Amino acid sequence: MLFDTNIGAAVRCTDCGKLITDDGVYEVRCSCGRTILTIKSTNCKSFRVYIPCIVCEKDHLYMFDSRQALLNKVKILSCPASQMDIAFIGNKAMVEEVAQKHEKDLQELINVLEL
Ligand SMILES: [Zn+2]
Ligand SMILES: [Zn+2]
Repeated sequence: MLFDTNIGAAVRCTDCGKLITDDGVYEVRCSCGRTILTIKSTNCKSFRVYIPCIVCEKDHLYMFDSRQALLNKVKILSCPASQMDIAFIGNKAMVEEVAQKHEKDLQELINVLEL
């Protein structure tokens, strides 16, 4: 279990590009088997999020001082090299909402490109 069931995350898989939303876990895995997000917490207060970047293929580290900071909002985690959004973490319901919108935007983009 993650520290709080109200916190969720959405990450895009580096292998298959699928957007995965999950909650209550320290490690998020895509259905293709790839680990796409790892959370490490030493004292249940501050924690680190490791995400293998879909854009530059490096692992990015994001630090949070308290889980409180994530309970009522969504943090967008972006790649420092490309500024691309690679993951969302925060309030579970809000993460799901953002992830759905993001997925829709991407789908629209794909539709445009395919025309
Ligand atoms: Zn995958
Ligand atoms: Zn990156």
